[in-house]
Amino acid sequence: MTQSRKLFQRAASKIPGGVNSPVRAWKAVGGTPLFISRGQGSYIFDAEGRRYIDFVGSWGPLILGHAHPKIVQVVRQRAASGVTFGAPTMFEIELAETVERLVPSIEKLRLVSSGTEATMSAIRLARAYTGRTKIVKFDGCYHGHSDGLLVKAGSGVATLGLPDSPGVPAGFARETLTSKYNDLKLLQKIFDRHGKDIAAVIIEPICGNMGVIQPELGFLSAIREITQKSNSLLIFDEVITGFRVALGGAQELFRVKPDLTCLGKILGGGLPLAAFGGRSEIMNLLAPVGPVYQAGTLSGNPLAVSAGIATLKLLSRQGVYDQLEAKSKYFEDGISAVLDQCRLCAVINRVGSMMTLFFGVDRVTSPDHARKCDQKQFSSFFHAMLERGVYLPPSPFEAMFVSLAHSTADLKKTISAFSHWAQAAARG
Ligand SMILES: *Cc1c(COP(=O)(O)O)cnc(C)c1O
Repeated sequence: MTQSRKLFQRAASKIPGGVNSPVRAWKAVGGTPLFISRGQGSYIFDAEGRRYIDFVGSWGPLILGHAHPKIVQVVRQRAASGVTFGAPTMFEIELAETVERLVPSIEKLRLVSSGTEATMSAIRLARAYTGRTKIVKFDGCYHGHSDGLLVKAGSGVATLGLPDSPGVPAGFARETLTSKYNDLKLLQKIFDRHGKDIAAVIIEPICGNMGVIQPELGFLSAIREITQKSNSLLIFDEVITGFRVALGGAQELFRVKPDLTCLGKILGGGLPLAAFGGRSEIMNLLAPVGPVYQAGTLSGNPLAVSAGIATLKLLSRQGVYDQLEAKSKYFEDGISAVLDQCRLCAVINRVGSMMTLFFGVDRVTSPDHARKCDQKQFSSFFHAMLERGVYLPPSPFEAMFVSLAHSTADLKKTISAFSHWAQAAARG
């Protein structure tokens, strides 16, 4: 029995499902999750000491790779001076100033410890600001696991939300209306009917949680117009895309300015840190200036904030995103060439360094298309890649991430592993 298998059995008797976040359990691909002992650059090592090229990057944060020397140094230094005080520190100012410079729609921001807190708090704020209760989200977008956001798509016009999970009161879910990605007609219908009750639209400006799905041309700017007309707020959940697709996130790429933005993942350089921010007029409703309560014992934690500052500094160097784009494009081209050669039906959706390979479909512009992908083929692909030392997200509906730590040799090796599997798959 492998070390990972032994550890998984031990974990499962004390921790529900053996994991502290469900996607880690490999339910979608089968098998036993690897227990990771350490990471270095583009590599992770399992409990056996086996090395893998990592394209999960802790599900998004590790754009610099594992154990980047600068981040290690900063965290060490800070830890030695005390990790938390529950009182303000100058590091929080430095981070806020940096984020506000890089993401101009953010005039003020508040730090929290997880993306879930960021979206939940942004919505509370939007409701308080507008005096309305309903929110609109998009089928397939994930915004953390707070009650009102765990709502599935409905069909038809403005289907009233049904909770996605037991434990979410139907009354909460009813305040969430679900629209469809890249479907402006449906969104317009929802606004025609409920506009005066809608506090905010929340969206991943590039969908990353149903695999990568790009917004079609004009989709985001049309949402901006619709929300503005109805005096509803627009919230961009850039927890994945922030500092990933550009320093200023997807809003820089698509030139659409939301009222509020949620950040996380890369923001903390791998430590628990997230934020929400936007126009001062809205943010000033937060306690202690205004009446909207929001707080956190470890919010703005110096250790996480210092890692975040160091990460953003490294990402602000000239040419970093060009370098990341070049690596990612090289990787996409390599995979595409193999698909062509083997005549496998699949499509790669990529924006910068985030991408998903969907099998058995030739176009994915909505979560409905994504759901039609060949999940069995994905499992076969996932396990074959693992066998050859490549660690991918264990689900067909996740983004894989290229980091600055991936070398050309890493990418070549991955493409060659893919070619090996694809040739066998094409033979059936
Ligand atoms: C990961 C993620 C979240 C939730 O962040 P957590 O830190 O896991 O709570 C929210 N929104 C998006 C788009 C995410 O990808």
